[in-house]
Amino acid sequence: MTERHVNPEDIDLYALGALDGQDKVSFEAHVRSCAECRRELLEAQQLTMLLGLAEAPLAPSPSVKGTLMRRVRAEKAEPVQRAVQDQPRRTSWSLRLTLASAFAALLLALAVSRLWKLDHLRQQEIAALQGQLQSAQAQAAQDAATIRTVNQVVGAPDTVQLALLQQPGGPPGQAHILFNARLGVVIYSGEVASAPADRSYQLWLVPSAGAPVNAGLVAANQSNQAVVVHLPPGLVAKAFAVTLEPHGGMPSPTGPKVLVGALNG
Ligand SMILES: [Zn+2]
Repeated sequence: MTERHVNPEDIDLYALGALDGQDKVSFEAHVRSCAECRRELLEAQQLTMLLGLAEAPLAPSPSVKGTLMRRVRAEKAEPVQRAVQDQPRRTSWSLRLTLASAFAALLLALAVSRLWKLDHLRQQEIAALQGQLQSAQAQAAQDAATIRTVNQVVGAPDTVQLALLQQPGGPPGQAHILFNARLGVVIYSGEVASAPADRSYQLWLVPSAGAPVNAGLVAANQSNQAVVVHLPPGLVAKAFAVTLEPHGGMPSPTGPKVLVGALNG
């Protein structure tokens, strides 16, 4: 069924037992085929039960239901005029009282329903905040792990340090590497002139034997934020290099060397 959902007011009226005639028939037809409206109706029915507003205590006659519905609709459309037109000329006191209590009940049900929905929204907000808190905690834990790794590498006697220098004809820049082969950790910091928009700088460990090992992408400016790279432990490096590669990097170096640093011995 592609037609739009039923009016929220109709859901409340139906739950109050105050919807009849063709409205009731088409309402029920829609609700049968629409899970969303069925859920809304269930909520409204639970509310009316909770508030003791179900059909039995109200028991308005069909004419009262009609008047009630017309008044509710009239207030929606043209608040003053329609309400006056549709109102019976003479209304007994008992009918007035029934109408008044039915209205009070309906307004209360609507108010509670709105509060209930607000509460749901608030619960969703709380869930979203909890999600944000969790990811912040995960980020903090990751940062703490990185700091531990850096401290470990900096403090290890077998960590080597080397400078990566700019190449003739290449962009100006300089970088520093801390490398611990036993831990398999490379710490890179430095700065190079910005790469073209469709290019990336990529760091490589050049082993004493075999092909260069991808150590990931580095930004042009990593002078204030070092990059910590984990590689398989035990690699024997003879040099490190930064190359200019197609955007996103390559599995093996293809572009010109931008920064190079060789290890002594
Ligand atoms: Zn629907």
